[in-house]
Amino acid sequence: SLNRNNIVDWLYRCGEIFTTQCDFLTGLDREIGDADHGLNMHRGFSKVVEKLPSIADKDIGFILKNTGMVLLSNVGGASGPLFGTFFIRAAQVTQARQNLSVEELYLMIREGADGVVSRGKAERGDKTMCDVWLPVADSLRHASENHLSMTAALEAACEVAEQAAQSTITLQARKGRASYLGERSIGHQDPGATSALFMVQMLAAAAN
Ligand code: ADP
Ligand code: MG
Ligand code: MG
Repeated sequence: SLNRNNIVDWLYRCGEIFTTQCDFLTGLDREIGDADHGLNMHRGFSKVVEKLPSIADKDIGFILKNTGMVLLSNVGGASGPLFGTFFIRAAQVTQARQNLSVEELYLMIREGADGVVSRGKAERGDKTMCDVWLPVADSLRHASENHLSMTAALEAACEVAEQAAQSTITLQARKGRASYLGERSIGHQDPGATSALFMVQMLAAAAN
């Protein structure tokens, strides 16, 4: 299973990856957006990490809710409210939890993904972070139904996420800033989907 410490470790690792990949993500956003995505994620998760020591002894729901609120209030643009919503909705199904089974992790990611969809109204194939969150949720459901271990479940989720992020390259954007480019958005990997991939990879790393 995944415990509270794994979740805290996950968020620290997100802080690290959005520092080291800040320029890369901003570069992706330069191609089809306004060249700020890496900066947005870096700013948001730096704040999340700053607050972690004071809340690290709380339950998983509390930690996730705090993360969502920090992202909502510190990250502008489209991605702040969307990733913020992801964590706030994920927090609603992990209240008072000290650890999570694969099924509970599935329900957490499903809730977060559904939250992003209802807030941003993107469908699968619109070239957004939803193109990673939705298949990752499906992969975890599959893992839960097949009684996979947490390690195996997250390994599978990582593979799905990598594939999914890469598949955004050939898509035309239908939501967000990139959609203004129309067909010219084709041929570039979506920045937000790439951030979602990094978050899944960091979760897998934190679980081990
Ligand atoms: P902004 O576009 O406001 O500058 P960011 O650059 O931080 O914000 O984030 C852009 C990312 O947000 C996109 O790559 C995409 O993945 C995601 N995004 C934009 N609009 C939506 C939406 N309606 N639903 C889901 N994700 C979206
Ligand atoms: Mg941007
Ligand atoms: Mg912007």
